[in-house]
This record gives sequence, structure tokens and C-alpha cells, in this order.
Amino acid sequence: MLRIRAGSVHPVTAPPITDGAVLVADDGRIAAVAAHSQVPTPPGARRVEFPDAVLVPGLVNTHTHLELTHLAGRNPEREFSRWIRTIRALKDATTSEEFDHSAEQGVRDCWTAGVTCVADTGSTGAPLRALARLGARGIYYQEVFGPDPADRAASLADLRAAVVRLGPVASPRTRLGVSPHAPYTVSEPLYRAVADFARRETLPLAVHLAESREETALVRDGAGSFAEALRARGIPVQAHHCSPVQYLLQLGVLGRATGCLCIHCVQVDERDIAILRDSGGAVVSCPRSNRTHGHGTAPLAAFRAAGIPVGLGTDSVVSAGDVNVWAEAAAAGLDGEDALRMITIEGARALGLDGEIGSLDVGKSADLAVFPSTVLYRPLPSPTALLTVVAGRPVAGYIPAP
Ligand SMILES: [Zn+2]
Repeated sequence: MLRIRAGSVHPVTAPPITDGAVLVADDGRIAAVAAHSQVPTPPGARRVEFPDAVLVPGLVNTHTHLELTHLAGRNPEREFSRWIRTIRALKDATTSEEFDHSAEQGVRDCWTAGVTCVADTGSTGAPLRALARLGARGIYYQEVFGPDPADRAASLADLRAAVVRLGPVASPRTRLGVSPHAPYTVSEPLYRAVADFARRETLPLAVHLAESREETALVRDGAGSFAEALRARGIPVQAHHCSPVQYLLQLGVLGRATGCLCIHCVQVDERDIAILRDSGGAVVSCPRSNRTHGHGTAPLAAFRAAGIPVGLGTDSVVSAGDVNVWAEAAAAGLDGEDALRMITIEGARALGLDGEIGSLDVGKSADLAVFPSTVLYRPLPSPTALLTVVAGRPVAGYIPAP
């Protein structure tokens, strides 16, 4: 057993406890959360004490691209469609071994930052393999691309093959989902086919949606830089006369049957917010990435007021620089307990994992992190966790000897 005492313990679903402690059972679950004096110390338990620190649930980063960890600082482009093309070229120049190392480094960087659960999208499978190999927790969404309607069958076959290949790697702690990437990389028939496939195979679904103004111009008017780039490749483009959110509703990607995780949702109006609410899915907001690319600001308060589950994500380190969700909360204008709730229980709820993680409650998995106490009020640019625990196992920081 593992017993962690801290200057204050923040269960998130209950008020903070001054001089509190958490007892972790050998099955990796939380056995007790209370004031230090009320938490037993079973014989043989490993004991660790952090008198000047806060003990919080492990942080949830609801959008990462861990296979791109090695590309931090390597894309100088600013204009979004050119930035995307440069990422594609850098990925083409990466070997599968490099992707594996990159994803593994990404998982370790998450642990250093106190992040114990990620929702990751990628095209190589490397993040799922890294999560499984290292004993991490997360959902990996296998991306599928194909902007030309003529490529629908080939793209779907690629996706099916990837799911067959990766299925045995998945587990209750490292889940597999699928992600038709974005409206500028996925054709209408491919969206329909992937949504159908996800429903039939009961795979979680995630999409990049309503991120840039160029994406809205493409969907609504068949115009703008994405439209020009597609036409230059000989790919037909048509105006759909609606917003990207309405477009994905029409295609069956959004809806109660898929519970889709919608990443970004910056370019949305009131009608879109109502659609997102009624679709039974969740929204991921990435304020720092949106700022980097000049996309604008997602209406976080409106999403929360509508009762839509919302998580914060860092997006790739190429956009945000790191996997630090405290900085993401600060960029969203949140601090203190409100920030903490957003990057723990709210993130877990957005991923449908709030029954298992996201708060310090007896019976939940012991996913937790210890930070210097200043983190709640003055988040450092990159606060390092003093200790990170996943399912009862210390994975980063100070690891007490058995
Ligand atoms: Zn992304």
C-alpha cells in the first residue's frame, strides 16, 4: 500500500482538506481520503509526506498528438494551411522507430507535468503502443484522411487494417478510437463511412472541428485557402451552405449514437452550441493552440452554461510548446479550484471516464499528482509534479522505496 500525506489534499468532488492524506490499496484504487489523523497507516505501507504541497487528482489532457513530440519548435509556418502542409512533410520524413520514441517521450513528459490521462489523436499507432508499453492511461484515436471522395474505400480499408492491428494493444486503461481528421482532409462519403464504422464497432469518435476561419469558408462557401489547395490537387470542392458543426450533424458524425469528442469548436454560433449540446458528445478547448494560429477564442463559458462536457487540451507541442494543462487553464482565464476542476473531473467527464478517474474518491483508480502549493494560484510556465501516480503506481517524481 502507498500512503501520501500533503499540506492540502484536493478531492475536487469535496472541499480541500488541510493536512490530508490518501491511502492507495494494492489493487491501485483509493482506499481512504481524509485528514491525516483519520487515515490509517497499515503495517508495511510505503509512506511519503509533502508538507508544503498540494495533492490533486491526476490531470487530464483531452487533446494531444504525442507522436509529434519530436517536432516541438520545428514548424516556423504561421498561415494555417501552410502550417498543416509543413507538418505533413515533417511526418513523411519520420521513421516508425522515431515515432515510437517520440510518443514514448510524450507520455513521460505528460507524467512529469502531472498528466495521468490523455486523449490522443495520431496516424501511426505509436501513441497507443507507448501508452500500453509504459502502463499509462488514455484513449488513442486512429486518424483517417481522404479529402477526395474517390478515395473513400481505400481510406476506410486503411482504417480497418489499423484497427485490426491495434485492437490487441488496447485495454480498459488504453482505449482505441477513430478520428476522421478534419473537414479539409476528409470527404463527405468518408465521414459517413467512418461514423458508420465507429457506431458498428462501438469505437469512440473524435474530430477536429470548427477550428479555423478557413475551414468555415471551405464548408460554407467552398472557398478560401483550403478550398484552393484541394482544387489545385484536382479534388472537387462544393459549398454546403452551413457551418462545420451543422455539416457533421448532417453526415451523422455528431449525434447521440456516436457521442463524438469535438476538438476546438472555436468558429461556432448559438445554433452550433445547441447542436453540440443535443449530440451528447463533448468539446475540447485548446486556448494556447488557438492563440498560436490566430483562430480566435472558443466560447468556453457558453459551452459550460449549456451543460456540454468540456475538457482542456494542449494540442500538439508544435502548437502549444508543451503538455502543461495548468497553462491551458490559465489561458482560458481560469485559476484556483475552478482551473483544477476543469483539468481533472471535467476533463474526465468529457472523455466519459469520470466514474474511474478525475477526483480523489474512495474506490476510484489512484491516479494523482503532487505539486508545489503555489500551482493553484500562480501556475508556473511548466510546473513539474513532485510525484505522479497512475493506477497506484508512482511513474514520475519522488518515488518512495518499497
Ligand atoms: Zn489537434
